[in-house]
Amino acid sequence: MRALARVRRGEGVAVLCLDLDRFKAVNDSLGHPVGDALLQAVAVRLRECVHETDLVVRLGGDELAVVQEGASQPAEAAAAATRIIVALLARFDVAGHQVSAGDSIGIALAGPGSTDADALMRCADLALYRAKEDGRGTLRFFEPGMDEQMRVRRELEADLGAALGQGELALFYQPLMDTQRGCVGGFEALLRWQHPVRGTVSPAVFIPLAEETGMIMAIGAWVIRKACADAARWTAPVKVAVNLSPVQFRDRSLPHIVAEALAESGLAPTRLELEITESLLLLDDEKVLEILHGLRALGVRIAMDDFGTGYSSLSYLRRFPFGKIKIDQSFVRGMMEQKDCAAIVSTVVSLGRLLGMSVNAEGVETREQFLALREQGCGEVQGYLFSPPRPASEVAAMLDGIGQAVTQEPALAGPLSPAGGSAAPRPSAGCPA
Ligand code: C2E
Ligand code: MG
Ligand code: MG
Repeated sequence: MRALARVRRGEGVAVLCLDLDRFKAVNDSLGHPVGDALLQAVAVRLRECVHETDLVVRLGGDELAVVQEGASQPAEAAAAATRIIVALLARFDVAGHQVSAGDSIGIALAGPGSTDADALMRCADLALYRAKEDGRGTLRFFEPGMDEQMRVRRELEADLGAALGQGELALFYQPLMDTQRGCVGGFEALLRWQHPVRGTVSPAVFIPLAEETGMIMAIGAWVIRKACADAARWTAPVKVAVNLSPVQFRDRSLPHIVAEALAESGLAPTRLELEITESLLLLDDEKVLEILHGLRALGVRIAMDDFGTGYSSLSYLRRFPFGKIKIDQSFVRGMMEQKDCAAIVSTVVSLGRLLGMSVNAEGVETREQFLALREQGCGEVQGYLFSPPRPASEVAAMLDGIGQAVTQEPALAGPLSPAGGSAAPRPSAGCPA
């Protein structure tokens, strides 16, 4: 930073902030000495991409900056950034290991109103953040408005940090319908953030934030404990499905957290199902598989969520003995009109049968979809046709009302009215795990 402060202020100055995309993975898997050697090798390549007069500084960790002075901005900064991205894509040979670094770059230009070195660094950093968000290996110039977006994000981040302690997080439950037995076979726990001012914040917004900041560790552990405790009190011994973030697999303590939640609640492990997504298996990481096997050894079932949306390599299904595959709702949505969606749905149903894995279809909204899926032998469905996710307090009513409606075929004529409406309490219609 001191080096930056010395830079002559004025037009024609560009700051390129760069962050290595895979530095942490190299450090974690091959150790710090290899990580340090990689940084040195990166610095050498970096210098080859810039002019002798450009300044290359290490800001700490794997963050580096290049300060350029020259009249031909922004063209020169963009050209240098592209050279750097290309150069760092090629593998490095460090201490006998072939490693790749990859990087993202944010660029800020000094202008009449922005010649302050600190401000320039902050702008380059904001642009870098955006570059990483847009997909690694890209470059972004700072644009006004990025700071406002960042401010909103920081506010949300601070609020989320307090949300758990203030009891603003809640689990909603969506029924998983057993198509053969015509009853509620379980519920998927779906997290909701009830913000005092913003209202209900979608998990699609705050889960990525929780993942980036690491807050998902505490939130995820709470979800597991809460879901087990809730399920243990349900009036029927049906399953509960909990979503896990890939970030939770960075820590080997996950099986302990699950074991503790089971022990504390007294929930039978066979009633717990853990949903993971394909992205977790992308890296073919031994540690991840070890954790998955540790979880399975507890007696819980592992389900592959959103199947078909990631890389969908069939080898993922061989890498680990999944108990269930969940077909992503995008295929279910199109299955009645589009041949390709229908083909994917029926193929995954057959694949599940052949591999001995249960199959669930998500996002079932119409009776036609439900009947077609049941006909094809899809064992479990979930979707707004039966019920949206509802608060924990409504589980008993859902167990009661929805099972009844599915069993009595003619009643299933379209989206159901809210479960538990005016119907008198009946014995539970849930079917045990
Ligand atoms: P998911 O696990 O695939 O959950 C299914 C999503 O589809 C839920 O969205 C659910 O409300 C929605 N859905 C269910 N039926 C229908 C339908 O018929 N039509 C349509 N259009 N949508 C339907 P939600 O609750 O907003 O959750 C979004 C995602 O957030 C989840 O996708 C899951 O990946 C993540 N998530 C939710 N809770 C947690 C959690 O506790 N931990 C983690 N790590 N992720 C969570
Ligand atoms: Mg899920
Ligand atoms: Mg899903």
